[in-house]
Amino acid sequence: MIKTGKISEVKENVRKWKKAGLSIGLVPTMGYLHEGHASLIKKAREENDKVIVSDFVNPIQFGPKEDLGTYPRDFEADCKLCEGIGADLIFHPEPSEMYEGDFHSYVGVNTLSEGLCGKTRPIHFNGVCTVVTKLFNITEADRAYFGQKDAQQLAIVRRMVRDLNYNITIVGCPIIREEDGLAKSSRNTYLKPDEREKATILHKALSEGERMVRDGETDANKVVKVVRDIIESEPLAKVDYVEIVDWNELQKVEKIDGPILMAVAVYIGKVRLIDNFIVENSMVIEMV
Ligand code: AMP
Repeated sequence: MIKTGKISEVKENVRKWKKAGLSIGLVPTMGYLHEGHASLIKKAREENDKVIVSDFVNPIQFGPKEDLGTYPRDFEADCKLCEGIGADLIFHPEPSEMYEGDFHSYVGVNTLSEGLCGKTRPIHFNGVCTVVTKLFNITEADRAYFGQKDAQQLAIVRRMVRDLNYNITIVGCPIIREEDGLAKSSRNTYLKPDEREKATILHKALSEGERMVRDGETDANKVVKVVRDIIESEPLAKVDYVEIVDWNELQKVEKIDGPILMAVAVYIGKVRLIDNFIVENSMVIEMV
């Protein structure tokens, strides 16, 4: 597996692979890889001749009061995981390699970026769209793999690719969970033992919401209330948002009659966790 922090070295390999007619799959990550990331890399491995994993804590998607400085990092362990799955290249640039001093260009998707996590993280999705655009251009990937764990991100990247005619296919992958239902996340390491135990409340609450929708409930506010009440029954939990939005425009819905995303963001102590499920055509496609 090639390990590099240089854009020029990635491009050199990509040129070689493209010349040989090989397909390329890209898995963008911020590192500290776990089984959620591994599931994306495995899928990319199955569907492409060459697999590139980017491992970059992207500074421009963090707000000034967020956890850029403390975000967990372990490049050696990441390399082991990628090598084990058979990735061909891991790209681990320094921020200065991605953003030179005179960097001024940003990409953004309006409307979809404004609700849900966009409310508390106003610059986040422009940072994501910008880094993802750079990674698409650097790797010339045929396919890129994103987790439903970050459902708003997945919807935004898909829309950006469609609106701006990027030559890439976005592949969405299901949420991988711990045995007790907590969605795997690099940020779970911030949780103290008692918080880790209580964090299962997100999945418990969403499971109840899923059950209601599966049983035919179409009143979105009713489902939101039940899910919110369950989360708030846990004293350590503080709701940032609990919402049901349509899965195309990410706008709040009153009535569930098409594809919807039910998403939550919850502070457990000081740690902000997100989770969700999607219902397409009145059929739940994600919940374990
Ligand atoms: P991150 O390193 O947190 O930026 O995540 C990189 C990619 O892995 C994103 O597309 C995430 O949605 C995806 N991902 C993170 N956690 C999970 C999970 N538990 N299940 C599936 N995909 C995940």
